[in-house]
Amino acid sequence: MKKILAIILVVVLLISLSACGEKNGWTDDGKINLTESSVLEIINGEFKTPKNIIFIIGDGMGVNDIETTEIYSEEKFPFGLVINQIKNQGLSTTASADSKITDSAASATALSTGVKTNNGFIGKDPQGNDLKTMAELARECGKKVGIITNEDINGATPSGFTVHSDSRDNRKEIINKFINFKPDVLMGVDYNSVFVALNDEERQMFENDYVVAKKFEDFETAAATDPEAQKPFIGFIEKYSSVASYNLAQSAKFAFDRLKNDNGFFVMIESAGTDKFGHNKDMNGKIASVVTLDRTVAAALLFMKENPDTLLVVTSDHETGGVRKPTGNEKYLSDLFTTGSHTATKVKVFAVGKGSEYFNGETVDNTDIAKFLIDAIKGN
Ligand SMILES: [Zn+2]
Repeated sequence: MKKILAIILVVVLLISLSACGEKNGWTDDGKINLTESSVLEIINGEFKTPKNIIFIIGDGMGVNDIETTEIYSEEKFPFGLVINQIKNQGLSTTASADSKITDSAASATALSTGVKTNNGFIGKDPQGNDLKTMAELARECGKKVGIITNEDINGATPSGFTVHSDSRDNRKEIINKFINFKPDVLMGVDYNSVFVALNDEERQMFENDYVVAKKFEDFETAAATDPEAQKPFIGFIEKYSSVASYNLAQSAKFAFDRLKNDNGFFVMIESAGTDKFGHNKDMNGKIASVVTLDRTVAAALLFMKENPDTLLVVTSDHETGGVRKPTGNEKYLSDLFTTGSHTATKVKVFAVGKGSEYFNGETVDNTDIAKFLIDAIKGN
């Protein structure tokens, strides 16, 4: 009788395990389940010469945003933020060519090309000459290209990694250049804003040449129409919000799987909320955005566990809000803001993968981060 009961128990256990199962750290409902030791195991693993480059940018994410999130967010992993477990950490300066305080256009251009430019410029030097963007370089090196943001596709950060324009405000010109560049995976928010920016001919090309998924729930069905991933994929995801989300992490996972190929890929992923909520002096929004970014970093690490020929760099383009160091006894979190603008404060750099000790304990310039990644993309 005992034996039969034991068998029944084992069977029930097996069924329940497979019902709410888990694959490579991802739960069936699209969340990530990690322990501190599993994170450290990935971070301290053996890495190979990188074929895949993952660059994650927290727009406007300052050092103290991360600290405040570590203290005040209950939504982080049980052991804290994943990025704080990364051993190779340093700082970066962010000034643009014409200002101590950069905007996202000049900093995206610097992080993408290794050349400082004026605020407002997209993929161009201060004289207005085109610079080779990281997306262009990666394609030239035979890699697939992914550009992902939880803001508008033609926002300053994704634009500076992909195209060229005299001004970040040339939104229509930029979206046209994006559509023509055809990143292998392109994700952002708001299908209609892209669609209305195109003329009839461009719309025709867009609908013929791209696999289009108007929302995240449609990604798998849309991708199934092009199982060999021959066509560029454009998908629309959830906008950053004051509630921490797994959507950016899930979108990133989808992108890694679609971009994976023998020559490798380059993907830039922007978590945009830390900037927008900084301008609004909304600390809870900032915290949610740091958690959203952190889950995306976790998704990248889970990919690296299976693909050790991958390099991950996480940084910010600048600080927004002049956030003070939290004490843990804040009466109002909004009191942590000293401004509603960008500041010249140094930001963090985190790196995992071969060669990433370059950043450990160092202060580099944002152009140095670009040069490091450009070398990695070129295979130097
Ligand atoms: Zn801003």
